[in-house]
Amino acid sequence: GQAQIGVTGLAVMGRNLARNLARNGLTVAVHNRSPERTRGLVAEHGDEGRFVPTESMADFVAALERPRAVIMMVKAGGPTDAVIDELVPLLDAGDIIVDCGNAHFADTRRREEALRRHDLHFVGTGVSGGEEGALWGPSIMPGGSAESYRKLGPIFERIAAQVDGEPCCRHIGPDGAGHFVKMVHNGIEYADMQLIAEAYDLLRAGLDATPAELAETFRQWNSGELESFLIEITADVLGHTDASTGQAFVDVVLDQAEQKGTGRWTVQSALDLGIPITGIAEATFARSLSGHADQREATRRAFAGTGPAWQVADRDTFVEDVRRALLASKIVAYAQGFDHIRAGSQEYDWNIDLGGTATIWRGGCIIRARFLDRIRQAYDDHPDLPTLLVAPWFADTVRAGVPGWRRVVAEAAQAGVPTPAFASSLSYFDALRANRLPAALIQGLRDNFGAHTYRRVDRDGSFHTIWAGDHHEVEA
Ligand code: NDP
Repeated sequence: GQAQIGVTGLAVMGRNLARNLARNGLTVAVHNRSPERTRGLVAEHGDEGRFVPTESMADFVAALERPRAVIMMVKAGGPTDAVIDELVPLLDAGDIIVDCGNAHFADTRRREEALRRHDLHFVGTGVSGGEEGALWGPSIMPGGSAESYRKLGPIFERIAAQVDGEPCCRHIGPDGAGHFVKMVHNGIEYADMQLIAEAYDLLRAGLDATPAELAETFRQWNSGELESFLIEITADVLGHTDASTGQAFVDVVLDQAEQKGTGRWTVQSALDLGIPITGIAEATFARSLSGHADQREATRRAFAGTGPAWQVADRDTFVEDVRRALLASKIVAYAQGFDHIRAGSQEYDWNIDLGGTATIWRGGCIIRARFLDRIRQAYDDHPDLPTLLVAPWFADTVRAGVPGWRRVVAEAAQAGVPTPAFASSLSYFDALRANRLPAALIQGLRDNFGAHTYRRVDRDGSFHTIWAGDHHEVEA
């Protein structure tokens, strides 16, 4: 075979990834279960580079130079296993299967282990950036063996987004590390979007502003510390007018947010690892809540008219308060997301470089932002940073934002505007900085009803109080 790499699964993502590879000078074998997609790709884009179209899996594998590298871009779940089962008997020791679909990292760990027994490399790879990213330069998060990265690295680094001359791709770590990091990326994306949505909702209620006016506010924010792809497209969406009604587009869209499940995976994994990613959890639950139309309708009817009118005292101060609250809450969400990656890395022995991970999110992916340079800097300066919140730039930014953050959350509560992510992020911050937490009382209660014991502030050891008797303390 003469193709340097192959892509099987030519729906929107695979097709664009194959075009990206070909545009970058690689000879790309292409394959899809139903051959119409393969034919369509070559008919429409065959002149963009060197494609080797194939219609059977055997021909596809035969078209590849050895060791072979096969990228799979098929539907996650059962279809991924089905395609792997089809490929394995056709491959030889040392060949590489790259799964660029949105697999759960636990599935990737299972598949990697199974294929290792066949002397095959299985490289679960997170790809972010949607169809445009796949075509013009995504953020690429490969897991798998270091050996496989020696072949894949130069290819992936060439087709990835580039920021300041650096590719948005690096080897994340063994087996499921790439898909794990992609999962957390998506969780952070949920939090980012929820925070932006809350900022919009607050500004709209507090200022009685139109979406078009708020588009301008977001456009201005995009030239400062908040500069990011999501803020940029927020301005775009808010500024858009619906053609059929002439109303603001955002007002004709049904207010029930959907999800494909990566936010849920992130929260489930964080629960398993014991990492409080409250921002991502609130964002995920906020989407669920929005979809409970019956409950919303019943509750809206039961409590109609109880919201007080809201008049902010000073418009400019309020806008600046919301901006600072958004930035501070965003810092919390990222601090939590990076804690989650660190915990996953420890649990699964992945040795993930946190600063490096921030580096490859600066371009190509949905959460790309100026701010990620700061995160890289923070972890490069202090790899053992206990939390991003205490890195100098972040600490200064949060400190400067706290008064506005508190005012916004308090005013929102007074006015009855829901701010689950703003409010819980502020609580997270206040909990971390508290001298004492009421966790002491929780421990007392657990000891009282279940003899679960507690530790003391003044002595080592575990203790239990005889609650049912004379309340004397015994060493447990
Ligand atoms: P889809 O997730 O819609 O998957 C369609 C592709 O899977 C088609 O090529 C289809 O082949 C193939 N397929 C489905 N079932 C089987 C099967 N049993 N055997 C063989 N092939 C099968 O396509 P997308 O391009 O949207 O996404 C591809 C992957 O990339 C998914 O895992 C997705 O989660 C992930 N991803 C998607 C992003 C996006 O923005 N869309 C972003 C990042 C990752 P056929 O044409 O024959 O039906």
